[in-house]
This record gives sequence, structure tokens and C-alpha cells, in this order.
Amino acid sequence: MQSLISKITIEPHLITAYPSEELSEFLNEPLFIHSEQINLSNTPEDIACLPFIYNIAPIVWRLGGDWRAPQLSYAAAENLELVRMGMAELWPDYEWNGKIHGAATASKQSSNKPALLFSGGLDSTFSAMQLVKQKPTLITIHGGRDLQLADENAWVSVERATAKFATTHQLDSIQIKSNFTSTLTERVDQLCPGLPASWWASIQHGLGLAGVAAPVMFAAGNNELYISATHTTGHQAGWGSHPKLDGVLNWTAAKANHFGYDHDRTQKIQALADLAENNHYPIPELIVCTRRNRQGNCMRCPKCLRTMGSVLVNDLDPEKFGFELNKNDAKSHLMGSIPASIKVTDNEIFAWKSISKHAVENLGSKPDPFMKWLAKLDLSKKPGFFERLFASK
Ligand SMILES: [Zn+2]
Repeated sequence: MQSLISKITIEPHLITAYPSEELSEFLNEPLFIHSEQINLSNTPEDIACLPFIYNIAPIVWRLGGDWRAPQLSYAAAENLELVRMGMAELWPDYEWNGKIHGAATASKQSSNKPALLFSGGLDSTFSAMQLVKQKPTLITIHGGRDLQLADENAWVSVERATAKFATTHQLDSIQIKSNFTSTLTERVDQLCPGLPASWWASIQHGLGLAGVAAPVMFAAGNNELYISATHTTGHQAGWGSHPKLDGVLNWTAAKANHFGYDHDRTQKIQALADLAENNHYPIPELIVCTRRNRQGNCMRCPKCLRTMGSVLVNDLDPEKFGFELNKNDAKSHLMGSIPASIKVTDNEIFAWKSISKHAVENLGSKPDPFMKWLAKLDLSKKPGFFERLFASK
């Protein structure tokens, strides 16, 4: 049997897991998690190994064979088998045959308080507003692909938005730093040739984020982790955070929940506005993209454009959601930018189709030119910027 981890060190604010010889080509350096605010000294080993195990599990599933992780609890290893089945269902073109064997007794959590992964974006802000009465601990992870350790600017705006939300609703918030994406070598990207998106996006992020959060949750008394859905029920393609992956994850001390899968982005915007109005909360400013300028969201990237579309189709004010454009200017901006300034991918077609569907429902008797345009919009029929550039030559 091959081994996963050569050694784990547990310090007051830092947990570091050193890969075994067999895995050394997949990691640049030992995988660490670091939190200033939380004392991690008393983390049991079966919890301390989770950042490493949950991030590396898909790699060893792809490699095949039997892998020994004596730090991991027997129960968590059994549960990982369920996740492995989910991965095989989502990505049937690849084999996921490796098996991780745990041996330890699972540690238990005595308190019951939920935690929520929070980044200030639409998905996690929607979840936070839905769950706010349960007083979830907000956990923000610095080091994911969309919030890398080096990107100080983006991190500062996320920290500010998180602090504001936590203060408004009297929630605890905890920041964690980790190298869980930057430590992976290019060898990892070669494990599944032909993936439609990166290893991070397609395979790693749901499990990996939960793993990074696990030790901090143990210390903070959280027995449940909410992970916000990025996709909705209609989205069929495999994605690295999914009800069948992180949605079934359970390490005894806590379990994960995949949250918000029943709402598309437009419905999330409307729900945010309704929750704010009914409970007299302010509408939280959204950190939609990390390409921030002084005004906030860039308003040019596909994610900003889509989110503005979802705001406008609900007849809401983009300025209230963190975009520096009034309703009318935002409408002209979108009509001029879609599809002209985006790359038309399947993901974009799917996203805009669902916004357009809401435009059809909201047309009313006197629709403005924007609503009419949006109701008719079908990106699958329109050539995007790159195709038109090519056609004009
Ligand atoms: Zn943007």
C-alpha cells in the first residue's frame, strides 16, 4: 500500500502536511493552512489531515491503487468512497479507482453551530442572507484559484465586504490562508486531459475548500459547513462543487451542505432584494469579480455583465448591488456589450438563456427596449466577438 502523508505538524495557528515520496511530484511544497484568529493547537490528527486529504483525494483516485492514511478516521475514509462514486458519475470519461484507507477513530464535535464559506460574491451572500438567523460563522479562504495568495487587492476588498456583513448581522468571521492551489504542480493538470475547465474548477474546489475549513471549524465549534452552489439544477455538466461531491461530505465532527442549488443567479438577486426589504436589512454590496477598480466591480468581465443582467431583469438598481452605473446606463452598457465583448461559451449561453427566460416572464404590457432585447436574446444564435472578428477578415 502506498502512503499519502509523511508527517503533519500542528502549531498554534498553522497546520502543515508533508506529502509522501509517492506524491512529491504533485506538490511544490507542504500543504498548509494558517489562521491568525483561531488557536489550532488542540486539533486532533484526524481533523488536521483533512486539508491535505480532501485536496489530494481526487489525485490519488485518478492514480489508482490503495493508499494508506493512518491519520484519517475510518468513518471519513468510508465517506470519501461516496464522494469518489459521485466523482465517477460526474466525470465518467476518466477512471477514479484509487482508494484511501483510514484507520483512526473519528473526533466528535460537541457544539452545533453552522459555518458558511463566504467570499462576498452573489452565491455566498445569498446563502448568508438565507441562513442569517442561524448565525453562521463566516469562513473566508484566501488562496483559492479565484482569490490567490498573491492577489492582495482582491483580498482587501473581500475582507472589507466580509467585515461589513459580519458587523451588520453580528456574525463571527474567520479568515484562513492556504497554499492549497498554488502548491499543486502542472502534473495535476495532466491527470484528466480534455477537461472543459481547470482541475480547480472541475474537480478540486468543493472538496478542497471544505478540507481547508475543517480544522478551523473544529476549533470554532462548527458541526456543519454550508458551501454555496455556483450552478443550478439544470446545469448538467460536471463541476468541482456539486451535491454529489461536497454535498455528501461528512467527517463526523461536521458535515457539508451544498446550498442554493434550487436558485439560479437571477432568482438569487431577487431573493436578496426581498430578504433585505422584509427584514429591513441593507442590500449587501456584492464582490462579483476580483478584477476590482477603485469603483468596485469592473463591470466588463462576463461575470459582472451576467450579474448586472440578473439585477436589471428584476427591475432592481445596479448601484445597490455594488455596480457604479444607474439603471439606464447599465441597460445601454449591457445592450452594447452582449455578445460583443464576451467569449460565447456553453456556460455563457446557459447563463444568459436563464436570464432571458426571466425577461420573458417579466415582459408586462409596456416593456422597455432593454426588456424586449433581453427577452429575444439567444447567444447560441449570435456570433460572438471572436467569430465576428474572424468573419470580417
Ligand atoms: Zn468584473
